[in-house]
Amino acid sequence: MQDNIFFLAFAALISGLIILSLALFSSVRLVRKLPDGTLKNLWEYLVYFILLFIAGYVIYGVTIWNSGYLFVHLVVSGIFLCGAIFVYIVCLLTLNTISDIQRISVLEQETIIDPLMGIFNRRYLERRLDEEFSRSQRYHLSLSLLMLDIDRFKNVNDVYGHQAGDIVLKNLARLIVKLLRETDFVARYGGDEVVVILPNTTISDATVIAERIRMQIFEHLTIGDGKAAGRTITGITVSIGVSCVSDKNYNVHELTLAADKALYQAKEKGRNRIAVYDSQEN
Ligand code: GH3
Ligand code: MG
Repeated sequence: MQDNIFFLAFAALISGLIILSLALFSSVRLVRKLPDGTLKNLWEYLVYFILLFIAGYVIYGVTIWNSGYLFVHLVVSGIFLCGAIFVYIVCLLTLNTISDIQRISVLEQETIIDPLMGIFNRRYLERRLDEEFSRSQRYHLSLSLLMLDIDRFKNVNDVYGHQAGDIVLKNLARLIVKLLRETDFVARYGGDEVVVILPNTTISDATVIAERIRMQIFEHLTIGDGKAAGRTITGITVSIGVSCVSDKNYNVHELTLAADKALYQAKEKGRNRIAVYDSQEN
């Protein structure tokens, strides 16, 4: 009987040790998954705690071995085992939760980002535009929109190939993002068209920003080292349509339409220019 209890206490302790080692393994994986920061540091402390527990279990095992049968050993070993199971479940659940959150955020990113240009896609643009529009109405702020389209982009594809065209699109997105504030929003509207939302920006500021974008693209937009199929790509230009809510008390649909019409007017006037929608012209 005494031998059985001694054996049970020892078995509980060994099981606890194995389960704690599994918890240690899970928490180390968890620390590796977490980005640098306070949360990662706190989980690192937990890893050290688990190591401390493991040391405690081993010391207690040696104590049981040396002191022989004591009923209290069975009780304490049982508590140790339950503690180890608890720690393991917490680590495992947290690890699975973090993995799920990371998977969901990757999926979310994929549904809102344009894979070629690396900026937001049109679906997400519509949502953001609604949000920015509501905010501008609530706080009586102005809100401007730029609609940008590469001039004669079909020629780039025809002369240098579709792959070269793709790289130009990628570089275009990078260039535009670099020129904007963090609060601005850039999305691919489709094909070679890009829309920029400029919150809290008046029409005159938006015009200055549009002109800066146009100039930078004219001067710097190339493919990679500037060459494709052995030929140098230079002089890629864009036309930009500008609109602003405070201008004519537009609603969100009219704001987009005005930028689109302004873009059309810029193309009509000879491309490589910006235009603010002028209703007299249509
Ligand atoms: P415009 O000055 O009137 O804008 O002339 P454009 O040739 O740029 O004509 P438009 O904007 O109507 O056509 C856009 C072209 O962009 C059509 C298509 O060949 C090209 N395009 C659209 N999407 C992609 C893409 O993902 N990659 C590449 N390489 N080309 C694309
Ligand atoms: Mg175009």
